[in-house]
Amino acid sequence: MSQINAYAAQTASSPVAPFSIERRSVGHHDVQIEILYCGVCHSDIHQVKDEWGGSIFPMVPGHEIVGRITKVGDHVKNFKVGDLAGVGCFVDSCRTCPSCLAHEEQYCDNGMTGTYNSRDKEGNPTYGGYSTQIVVDEQYTLHVSDKLPLAGVAPLLCAGITTYSPLRHWNVGKGQKVAVVGLGGLGHMGVKFAVSFGAEVTVLSTSKSKEADAKKLGAHHFAVTSDPATMSKLRGEFDFILNTISAQHDYNQYLNLLKLNGTMVLVGVPPQPEPVHAFSLIGKRRSLAGSLIGGIKETQEMLDYCAEHNIVSDVEVINASYINEAYERVLKSDVKYRFVIDIASMK
Ligand code: NAP
Ligand code: ZN
Ligand code: ZN
Repeated sequence: MSQINAYAAQTASSPVAPFSIERRSVGHHDVQIEILYCGVCHSDIHQVKDEWGGSIFPMVPGHEIVGRITKVGDHVKNFKVGDLAGVGCFVDSCRTCPSCLAHEEQYCDNGMTGTYNSRDKEGNPTYGGYSTQIVVDEQYTLHVSDKLPLAGVAPLLCAGITTYSPLRHWNVGKGQKVAVVGLGGLGHMGVKFAVSFGAEVTVLSTSKSKEADAKKLGAHHFAVTSDPATMSKLRGEFDFILNTISAQHDYNQYLNLLKLNGTMVLVGVPPQPEPVHAFSLIGKRRSLAGSLIGGIKETQEMLDYCAEHNIVSDVEVINASYINEAYERVLKSDVKYRFVIDIASMK
């Protein structure tokens, strides 16, 4: 066991503040990682505020982790001391159910172990990447290229894989018109990947001020969703919509933008349920689907794809003490386009 610095929320209404936690000693199959950067996901905010229910406190958020390996267990095969490494949204799963065997551990039938706000197999609470060090089984650890700027790699571990996975699953590419709804942490990665896969990409946003950025990210078109004339012009336009919105909104408004056989995939998780009218689906045989992060194998594939194609997240690097202000700014859609904590500021 070792005592390390972290930032935690003590209750659903308290700020995120300095805290000390213990990490387990390095087991036979574990790697110990000195954390260098950790991204700030909107899911951190939902969970710190207990908006999805069932939050475990004290909570050390953070599931977009990159760092360097400082120790390895004696049975570790694929990592050595000094390697760069990444940890995403989960650190364990049952390893035997059909989902785990299919490399889709995020859908584990027995419940994956979240990187934070979860319990490990011994029942201990898990603590995330707003901390200086983490110990993880090598099977749930990713290899990180030294070719890319590390702060920009951190958000790939959640925002990256969460957008890459559905775009791949639904075979998005050349000849398809794709809308990315919400230009935040997930949305800006969705734009980068959809453009890289060859699709014609439109950003649908509530923020007119993001148009120039959307184009810089590679989007071909931009539309403001509050304008009824624009929205009615876009009816039946898209093959695929990636919906990253984090707050209450009308799904029907976006479903109506799909063409025949089009699919809208929800990756954003607004805290409240939202009604869907049957007419939004049946008139054009549309599908409404959802997608959760991605498995370890696909996350590695995504990281390798990013290294090969020079794709990273656009980040604002912050000190840990700025975290509560960063949350406020994320809630106002005021981040370009992911906050990433420089963990050196925690030492
Ligand atoms: P984010 O950076 O805050 O981006 C969300 C974007 O949604 C905002 O930038 C804004 O874009 C838009 N938006 C916000 N409120 C809105 C409203 N009331 N109506 C319409 N648009 C609104 O958040 P994020 O980190 O990308 O996460 C997005 C969501 O995905 C969160 O709910 C998060 O929990 C969830 N998530 C899911 C998974 C998964 O596996 N499925 C993984 C990670 C995160 P504009 O300014 O362009 O309108
Ligand atoms: Zn996340
Ligand atoms: Zn499983």
